[in-house]
Amino acid sequence: MLGLMQDRPLLISSLIDFAALYHGNTEIVSRTVEGPIHRYTYKDLAHRSKQLANALTKLGVKLGDRVGTLAWNTYRHFELYYGVSGMGAVLHTVNPRLFPEQIDYIVNHAEDSYLFFDITFAPLVEKLAPQLKTVKGFVALTDRAHMPKDSKIPNLLCYEDLIGAESGEYEWPVFDERTASSLCYTSGTTGNPKGVLYSHRSTVLHSYAVCQRDGLNLGSADSALVIVPLFHANAWGVPYGACMSGAKLVFPGPALDGKSVYELLRDEKCNFSLGVPTVWLAFFQHVDANKDLDVKKDILLERVVIGGSAAPRAMIERFAKQMDCFVIHAWGMTEMSPLGTTGNLLKKHAGLPLQQRLDVQAKQGRTVYGVEIKITDDTGKELPRDGVAFGDVKVRGPWITKGYFKGEGGGVLDADGFFTTGDVATLDADGYMQITDRSKDVIKSGGEWISSIDLENAAVGHPAVQEAAVIGVFHAKWQERPLLLAIRKPGQEVSKEDLLAFLEDKVAKWWMPDDVVFVSELPHTATGKLLKTKLREQFKDHKLPTPGA
Ligand code: AMP
Repeated sequence: MLGLMQDRPLLISSLIDFAALYHGNTEIVSRTVEGPIHRYTYKDLAHRSKQLANALTKLGVKLGDRVGTLAWNTYRHFELYYGVSGMGAVLHTVNPRLFPEQIDYIVNHAEDSYLFFDITFAPLVEKLAPQLKTVKGFVALTDRAHMPKDSKIPNLLCYEDLIGAESGEYEWPVFDERTASSLCYTSGTTGNPKGVLYSHRSTVLHSYAVCQRDGLNLGSADSALVIVPLFHANAWGVPYGACMSGAKLVFPGPALDGKSVYELLRDEKCNFSLGVPTVWLAFFQHVDANKDLDVKKDILLERVVIGGSAAPRAMIERFAKQMDCFVIHAWGMTEMSPLGTTGNLLKKHAGLPLQQRLDVQAKQGRTVYGVEIKITDDTGKELPRDGVAFGDVKVRGPWITKGYFKGEGGGVLDADGFFTTGDVATLDADGYMQITDRSKDVIKSGGEWISSIDLENAAVGHPAVQEAAVIGVFHAKWQERPLLLAIRKPGQEVSKEDLLAFLEDKVAKWWMPDDVVFVSELPHTATGKLLKTKLREQFKDHKLPTPGA
């Protein structure tokens, strides 16, 4: 017997309608690409998204057509989230930090019909345009006064002119909730990037996890600085969760340096923010370099979501001590919309002394409802949830991909419908997951696995270490042994011996790096992750000083 409840489809347009009606006067603040701070409300967002939908219709954009973006976090990019998906087209956010050849590949592979770009990227678009065969027009996300001058970009349109000519009256179409809504390519360190194609249903369901108390806990009382880019896995679902919850949003535009982030947090009284560890490193560098700042008074952060890479324990501790701010350590991936686990505390953790609480927070958190997680060994056998055994992380759920766009990479699910994440982790009895590595970054020493992430986290706990990376290097006796690469903080001294001595009581004896090399920089991917393939290449001939190497 079927239930007798209404089959209203879960559509992204319902989120903006809700926000306009119930949070219409809540602010959305952006630092613009042109410079000044821009302010408007959810009501304005809804109106302009409808103007955009009308404009797209006139341009001939139809259900299922892809519309690309190369843009920072601002209100205009946000409007595309609703205008494009709401009218039934597919919003394709492209990461502008990728190499031009990758952007060329991605836009052509997605067959984008239009490309909306911030004026910062005008030179890039000009260079790429001749190769982008499917793109019928390029829309600069600005007003007439700021249009790129003397540009050779063909079919160049001005966003403000385009939407300004349209009415804000528009009836969002109703269609199957499984219709594609947005497309995001994974950064992938090897091979061509692959597209993850989200649906309206997956997006709306995922938004509940963003707003859930034990998810990201985004709510109407929040003022949220969205540092995670709108082109990185849908900014972790915040653009949708924000409309569901009515949170005030603050967009930093292109200014992601420590000073700009600090000022925006202060001026907009943000109590919530989200970003990868790298941006918070820059933030704390700014704090360290400006001793006269009154951080306690200026920064009202209560919760910060850190994900994309492991949040170092030292960083979580600093947020707690300096700002009384709780770090929600989150894990996920583009293929998962992206939320998988979030690091909230259980009742039994209430009142724990800080160091014991940090033991919990340094883990990647517990599974949110909607995601099933298991860890397996090489044969696919499920491993115990004992906090000790570690294996391949596999996931299943309604906002997890079942295959890449255009079938790239073939079948990606196992016989039970689980997707292999490529991460290696432990799960404990409470359900907390701890990522120990990407499966291809695991260090295999004498047949046993060593976690490079644990070693990196321990190393950045040293007060003179800015950033650290650990890779496996060939060792004749043990096959591979860990090599620690570290960047010293400006003006600080630390030797190899100091660092090894510091690690001694923090990691198992046989995990101790065989060597330490200080470097001036470490390579990162376009989404801020350590690019270990490059490091392995760079140090492939490194001779370890240990016996038997
Ligand atoms: P992306 O799809 O670019 O967001 O990358 C997803 C990958 O980032 C995951 O598969 C993990 O390897 C890594 N990642 C994301 N969050 C975390 C975290 N909190 N700790 C460790 N690794 C993470």
